[in-house]
Amino acid sequence: MLVPLLGRDTSELRALLQKEGAPAYRGGQLAEWLYRRRALTFDEMSNLPGALRTRLQDKYEVGRSRLVTACHSQDGTVKLLLELRDGARIETVGLPYADRFSGCLSTQVGCPVGCVFCATGQGGFTRNLTAGEIVDQALAIQAEGSDRRLDHVIFMGMGEPLLNYEAVMKAARLLNNEVGVAMRHITLSTGGIVPGILRLAEEKSQLGLAVSLHAPADNLRRRIVPNAKWPVAEVIAACHQYIRLTGRRVTFEYCLLGGVNDDLEQARQLAALLHGLNCHVNLIPYNSSGTARFREPSLESIRAFRRALANLGIQVTQRLRRGRDIEAACGQLRQRIDKETRL
Ligand code: SF4
Repeated sequence: MLVPLLGRDTSELRALLQKEGAPAYRGGQLAEWLYRRRALTFDEMSNLPGALRTRLQDKYEVGRSRLVTACHSQDGTVKLLLELRDGARIETVGLPYADRFSGCLSTQVGCPVGCVFCATGQGGFTRNLTAGEIVDQALAIQAEGSDRRLDHVIFMGMGEPLLNYEAVMKAARLLNNEVGVAMRHITLSTGGIVPGILRLAEEKSQLGLAVSLHAPADNLRRRIVPNAKWPVAEVIAACHQYIRLTGRRVTFEYCLLGGVNDDLEQARQLAALLHGLNCHVNLIPYNSSGTARFREPSLESIRAFRRALANLGIQVTQRLRRGRDIEAACGQLRQRIDKETRL
């Protein structure tokens, strides 16, 4: 089987080409083709000698995924379904905003966390992605998404990034050093894996941290995130440590589910829990897939929840609803295409 090159940085590519009998500087050219020019084949790499390209082709492949389908929303959001070398399929999303073009990347095939409102979580877990498979998504979004340069990334697609720590951190470094996304513009979103948060804190990385909380108390959180292993208090304690060691603010994601976690008592509990933390809360109104077990929160309840947090001194924003016409919530597109393919 051919070995994929995507996922190696410039110095690894230099070493690899030297092993193949080529001068080290060819590794820099190869990195340029892989990450900046987004080459799909060795044939495109016109400044590499033909004999070297043939040698590489015998042993290696670029390692890009196959685009199964691309859905473009009227609001500019683009959602891609990608097929990996082993046939597994993942979703990835490009989100153009007025001030940035952001990629929401998957880190696993499926997800073991099992959030009840998430199509991916309900589909179970298959495997971790490699660093190359994670970076590939950014390249695919850039190719499909917009003329603008992808300048922000969040690991918030399929999967729990902190359960695939090494590959995700390698992908972050590749995005930073090879693709050109500033580390401060890369955010990792976790369901609250305490050892992973503490490890990230120790590394003092410039990577941003977002924690999907969804409920201020354990009993309700367990209903929404059944496989959440660490109690809320331990998650918050780990966030205190992260802030202490990195000096960075933490974002708490809170998916508002109509009639479940969107009343004012929960807003008050959340404000008390986060009191004194350098953080902000990002409210995500639930995006129904039509077959869902939950209903979307009303506009009044979203406004009231938001106002209650703000009045209690918590910085709060609300995520814009993007890509509603293209099933942009996590796992919905893969679920539909898989169903259609099975019919
Ligand atoms: S919302 Fe994220 S963490 Fe939860 S099941 Fe879906 S992919 Fe996993």
